[in-house]
Amino acid sequence: MIVNTSGSHMSADRPANSPPIPELAHPTYQLAVAQFDRAADALNLDRNLRQRFRVPQRALTVGIPIRMDDGSVKVFMGYRVQHDLARGPTKGGIRYHPDVNLGNVTALAMWMTWKCALTGLPFGGAKGGVRVDPSQLSHSELERLTRRYVAEIFPLLGPDKDIPAPDIGTNAQIMAWVMDTYSQQMGYAVPGVVTGKPLAIGGSLGRADATGRGIADLTLEALHMWEIRNDHATVAIQGFGNVGSAAAKFLYDAGLRIVAISDLTGGLYNPKGLPIPEIIHRYYDQHEPLQALKVGEWITNDELLVTDATVLIPAAVSEQITEKNAGQLKCRLVIEAANGPTTLEADAILEEKGVLVIPDILANSGGVIVSYFEWVQDVQRFFWNETDVQHRLREIITRAFQRTLAFARQRNTSMRMAALMMGIEQVAEAHRLRGLYP
Ligand code: GLU
Repeated sequence: MIVNTSGSHMSADRPANSPPIPELAHPTYQLAVAQFDRAADALNLDRNLRQRFRVPQRALTVGIPIRMDDGSVKVFMGYRVQHDLARGPTKGGIRYHPDVNLGNVTALAMWMTWKCALTGLPFGGAKGGVRVDPSQLSHSELERLTRRYVAEIFPLLGPDKDIPAPDIGTNAQIMAWVMDTYSQQMGYAVPGVVTGKPLAIGGSLGRADATGRGIADLTLEALHMWEIRNDHATVAIQGFGNVGSAAAKFLYDAGLRIVAISDLTGGLYNPKGLPIPEIIHRYYDQHEPLQALKVGEWITNDELLVTDATVLIPAAVSEQITEKNAGQLKCRLVIEAANGPTTLEADAILEEKGVLVIPDILANSGGVIVSYFEWVQDVQRFFWNETDVQHRLREIITRAFQRTLAFARQRNTSMRMAALMMGIEQVAEAHRLRGLYP
């Protein structure tokens, strides 16, 4: 099914809870649209653009039949949504998760549009996903799923069209299968069709931990602004996947005390600081569950969010900081490594409390920034060293932070509103210049 919504006649005043496509009635989509509406109001954005930005330009839904190892066939649902194509090829990850649907993939694609525009990358926003729990599939089932998904969304993909990357539940090996499946159809190697690949097939140095590195860069930037010494700052991190664990490692190395971490099962708390290198080794290399590590008190994810720490890093899934717990947060800074972890109601509470929120589209942009570097290296066939990658990442992300902060102060608004307004305005300007076809 291809839903092409660019010519929609939806009323600009239509409430976000009655979307033009019923599948979009999803809390994460409603959060993305509500954030957009607020920023659009503040920008006084014209009606035509408002209508267009609320819905994806293209959305493809596919059924993915897979032969399981036991010989049976199972069909999984997959999506690829391109939210806006005005500024360049679209860019965004592929998520494998049991909650994936058209609504949350569209929200994530919309956030990618603002994220790429805010950081000045020449991309529109996209996102893809398959509704599956990847931990329940064998290696070869995962490979067949990935290849068939890519074959189904093939018409949308290409280094000048749409460039996927990893997200929750996917990794460099899966990106290698994406690259291979696309390249097999073309008849030659096309490394620039996907980022987050292994180095041997055109990946970039520094991509695997780029999101975590960007989180650490901005955390240190905020502490520096407040003149808080690194060794006086404490950190709680929800989620110990690719992003959460990398952020923990970089902040630990910078001398901060990581007092709490968690995964799906629960968390570890130690006010003296957790031994992050040991935890990473035992959790990732020895596959020991967090609870077995015994290096801190065992806590729930709800308790983690209200831990007494200078910095809280939600690095898991969306809608974690809500009106129920926002009032109890004890941190001074929330830096959103996840996409959409804070609801609109919680935003208002945090603003009232004076907690600084560095919003997702800025905070976690390190991943797509280094994806951009990877794509540039692939299309130019010219590869950079790791120091270049790290320096250029820090330069782009800290500049975006400083510009967003200055804009927020000047307009007396939150960092989230400032980031959204700046991103949306870039995309709006591209649309105004290109005009409406035909
Ligand atoms: N999935 C990541 C994100 O949400 C990275 C996307 C990319 O590198 O294209 O930003």
